[in-house]
Amino acid sequence: MNERRGLIVAVSGPSGVGKGTVLAKVEELLEQANPGSIGHSISVTTRAPRGSEQDGVEYYFRTTEEFEQMIREGKIVEYDKYVDNYYGTPSEPLERMLDKGQDILFDITIEGSLALENKFGDDSVTIFILPPSFEELEARLRGRGTETDDKVKARLAAAKNEVKRAGEFEYIVTNDDIDRAARDILAIITAEKLKASKNIYTAKELE
Ligand code: 5GP
Repeated sequence: MNERRGLIVAVSGPSGVGKGTVLAKVEELLEQANPGSIGHSISVTTRAPRGSEQDGVEYYFRTTEEFEQMIREGKIVEYDKYVDNYYGTPSEPLERMLDKGQDILFDITIEGSLALENKFGDDSVTIFILPPSFEELEARLRGRGTETDDKVKARLAAAKNEVKRAGEFEYIVTNDDIDRAARDILAIITAEKLKASKNIYTAKELE
C-alpha cells in the first residue's frame, strides 16, 4: 500500500533566474508521468493583484491586518517579506495535500525555503537555482523589458547577495538550459523519495 506523505519541493533563486519556467516544466513532466500527483499551494499576499490575477487563483490577496491576524491564529506555516509585502503559505491545505501523498512545488523566498525545511524535515527538499553567470542574469532581466535601469541594477545587487546563500540549500541547480534544469530537479525528487528514511517501512515489510 502506498501511504507515503507527499514531498515539499522548495525552490529559491534570484529574480530573473527562470524559477517559474523551470518549475512549470517540472510540473508538466511529473503530471505526464503520474496525473494528479502534484498539489498546488496558493500563497497569501498583501501585494495588490497584477493584470488579470484573481483572488484564490494566483494568490489570496489580503490586507496587512488580515495577514497579521492569520499569523496570530497559526494559519500560516511560513511567511516572509518581499519588496515591502508579506507572502505566506497557508498551513491547512498544505497538510491536506501532503497527507494525500501529493508533492508540492514552491517558488519561494530563501527564508521561506529554509523555514519549510525546518518544519517538515524529511518531507521537504530545498533547491537553489543559479544563473549560468551574472552577465546572463543581467541580460535576462533586461530582456524582460519591463524594468528601468535602476531596477535592473537593484535586482542584480540583490541577486549577488542571494547567491551567497546557495550553500544553505540541500541542492544547487544551474539554469543554463530549461530542460536540463528541469531534469536535474526531477532527479533530485526521485532521489529524495528513495531515501532510506522514507522507505524504511517498505523495507521492513519485506524482511
Ligand atoms: P510576485 O510578487 O512576483 O508574485 O512574488 C514575489 C516573490 O515572492 C516570488 O519570487 C516568490 O519567490 C515569493 N513568494 C511567493 N509566495 C510565497 C510564499 O508563500 N512564501 C514565501 N516565503 N515567498 C513567496
